[in-house]
Amino acid sequence: MTDFMVDVRGVHKSFGALTVLDGVDLRVRPGEVTVLLGPSGSGKSTLLRLINHLERADRGFISVGGELMGYRRAGDRLYELKEREILKQRTKIGFVFQNFNLFGHLTVLENVVEAPVSAQRRPRAEAEAKARELLARVGLEDKAAEYPRRLSGGQQQRVAIARALALEPGVLLFDEPTSALDPELVGEVLEVIRGLAKAGTTMVVVTHELGFAREVADTVVFLDEGRVVEQGPPAEVLDHPRHARTRAFVEKVL
Ligand code: ADP
Ligand code: MG
Repeated sequence: MTDFMVDVRGVHKSFGALTVLDGVDLRVRPGEVTVLLGPSGSGKSTLLRLINHLERADRGFISVGGELMGYRRAGDRLYELKEREILKQRTKIGFVFQNFNLFGHLTVLENVVEAPVSAQRRPRAEAEAKARELLARVGLEDKAAEYPRRLSGGQQQRVAIARALALEPGVLLFDEPTSALDPELVGEVLEVIRGLAKAGTTMVVVTHELGFAREVADTVVFLDEGRVVEQGPPAEVLDHPRHARTRAFVEKVL
């Protein structure tokens, strides 16, 4: 057991000869927002995918929600979860992708209802009532019967957030949630995430939106070449970076 909602310790991951994560630690307390920054290729997406068990670590420990989520040490040996355990654990995590990944053949409402009904076996009427509540929360209650292709990118991403919330996850992971959006649609999505932060939702957000990070993050983590180079409150990491690499990155993005 651990007090952290997300607890990553000493995680290594390679793809063939390429070391992508080289001993990463990441701890997120319940109710906290962590913004993960770093240049392209630094391992941000891989780290999120490991937390969600879409990839398997080579070494290290990952736990989510205070419970084992992937790997733990059993003596000195790594213990791996069985597929059934992984699926169960994964329902504790909401994942929002850059490209929304909505089900195109389902309506907005059905997109949000799908996982609670099929993965959690909730009664459909209950799942629908909850889905309508979540759609209202992201400002889309009037779009319940639409198909995703009829929505703007910003609206689709807000549906994706409602869908991720439907399983009442302990933590939400966002992988560049606004990178695929036209600039004028970025604000409405950040606004929803900001609202979730205010409501105390635990989140890990990969983004290059530094203004957003400064305002919403409790902790900013700067990843470079698979290592955490610097982490701390945004006022430190973004405004007074100690490492040359962080400084160079922040200046480039701004
Ligand atoms: P970021 O999200 O920070 O841009 P990624 O985690 O996507 O970085 O990728 C880090 C590095 O790992 C990149 O060099 C990428 O090409 C490589 N990589 C990611 N996934 C795979 C994979 N499945 N197979 C091989 N290489 C991968
Ligand atoms: Mg990425």
